[in-house]
Amino acid sequence: MVTTHPFDDDKLQEECAIFGILGNDEAAPLTALGLHALQHRGQEAAGIVSFDGEQFPTHRDMGLVGDIFGRHSVIDRLSGHAAIGHTRYSTTGDSGMRNVQPLFADLEFGGLAIAHNGNLTNALTKRRELVHQGCIFQSTTDTEIIIHLMATRQGTVVERLIGSLREVEGAYSIIALAKDTLIGVRDPLGVRPLVLGKLGDSYILASESCAFDIIGADYVRDIDAGELIVIDEDGPHSHFPFPPMPSRFCVFEYIYFARPDSIVEGTSVYEARKRIGMELAKESPMEADVIVPIPDSGVPAAIGYSQEAGVPFEYGIIRNHYVGRTFIEPSDEIRHLGVKLKHSANRAYISGKRVVLVDDSIVRGTTSRKIVEMVRQAGAKEVHMRISSPPTTNSCFYGVDTPERAALLAARNNVEEMRQLIGADSLSFISIDGLYRAMGRPERDGDAPHYCDACFTGEYPIPLTDADGAEDSRQLSLLAEIG
Ligand code: SF4
Repeated sequence: MVTTHPFDDDKLQEECAIFGILGNDEAAPLTALGLHALQHRGQEAAGIVSFDGEQFPTHRDMGLVGDIFGRHSVIDRLSGHAAIGHTRYSTTGDSGMRNVQPLFADLEFGGLAIAHNGNLTNALTKRRELVHQGCIFQSTTDTEIIIHLMATRQGTVVERLIGSLREVEGAYSIIALAKDTLIGVRDPLGVRPLVLGKLGDSYILASESCAFDIIGADYVRDIDAGELIVIDEDGPHSHFPFPPMPSRFCVFEYIYFARPDSIVEGTSVYEARKRIGMELAKESPMEADVIVPIPDSGVPAAIGYSQEAGVPFEYGIIRNHYVGRTFIEPSDEIRHLGVKLKHSANRAYISGKRVVLVDDSIVRGTTSRKIVEMVRQAGAKEVHMRISSPPTTNSCFYGVDTPERAALLAARNNVEEMRQLIGADSLSFISIDGLYRAMGRPERDGDAPHYCDACFTGEYPIPLTDADGAEDSRQLSLLAEIG
């Protein structure tokens, strides 16, 4: 069996990235480049659908964007001046070709390609209703639910999409292409990201602004929570089809998911991570000789911690970048070596030192334990662990792959128990109020927090309609995994 990240299973994983462009003769190659920049959001499969004025050429496959679209024989076939693309991450057993997006359907008004990032929390409920009405599903994606809902309605493509989205609940960003119209939409709370960019006269929608940088496009703005933007020959125009409500962007995008060079909701992700590290140093100072990030995601927070604490930052752990993508499923023996295949201790900067390790999160705790052990074996005098997120105590049902709750270390143990389990001399997490302070919010407002922070607080801002009806914990964990 081929797996995509055999040694990354101790991290939450963003499940998808989306990209769309209208008004450019190089639409498909630009989409492939945009998806390449968004590869961190999903490495299992990718797809592009273009529109050439008559047809919607399509290519979808398993693997990395560069491997799928790096050949002329593939990309040259995707002709046209408009395209949308998707990369997918999934750990569900049912992750084969039939779930690779964008999905395409011929509806009454013509062809429709659609891709989404996120998770509908009433997907099973809606699917059951649609199947009862006679709809035949070809995938297990939430995206197909939206297609069937659109197919059974009347009106223009925009009217059908709005009507369909009013029936679903969840956290989603969607990009759709219907002939010469590109459409983007964010859920009413804006949990998942979507940004607007411009390249010459072409408009672009993407999960993150790093997809604009790679093609030389300009970041224009974030699509607002609950905004549906329609881009056609007259340019972009916005609709706000949902009742207005305060947005609840996923705070974990700042902590870990988004690429550090992206601007999300007007804030630099790198800057945000540094500020979180500074706040962490204020909350949990430690007499130390060196601040060491767990690479790569712990780097900006470790820089912030180091600057605030006045303690040198060093790459005391080196990451091997050539492990952990497409790889044959490891045997237990090799899995045991996993951390060492991916990380190695930079002994010269660790031996004899009091080391503060900075990481973005602890999920199962297996990697943390092995890294602490590795740093001790490299001669560290003391090993302290600082985490730039609050303890992850709850699963995400909004489009992020999390283990079932029972597998989350923080769901079963307090901080002292976790410290003992990972073998560190001390362990601290940033507090939820510290996280909000770092994000420029004085503190978390209990009634209306600015972000979704449900994986830390258990306060889910969107109803978990399917999960509430789930009969057992296995169903719950599957729901958490469906992308
Ligand atoms: Fe993000 Fe956590 Fe909310 Fe999921 S539950 S959307 S990971 S903050």
